[in-house]
Amino acid sequence: MGAPPQAAMHYQGHPKNGQHCSICIQFVPGISAQSTGTCKVVDGAISPDGYCAAFSAT
Ligand code: SF4
Repeated sequence: MGAPPQAAMHYQGHPKNGQHCSICIQFVPGISAQSTGTCKVVDGAISPDGYCAAFSAT
């Protein structure tokens, strides 16, 4: 069982209202702050500048 696909979580590759993955509690960073990472609750490669419906600020 993987995490839900990005489309199901309304993932987008850009921030929304200043909210984005690198300041979300679910984000798992990549090698550097600018690198693509992953997410604990959304499947696949995740941009630090992305955003989805499950955003939760750190
Ligand atoms: S829950 Fe959504 S906003 Fe948070 S890191 Fe995962 S994809 Fe980004």
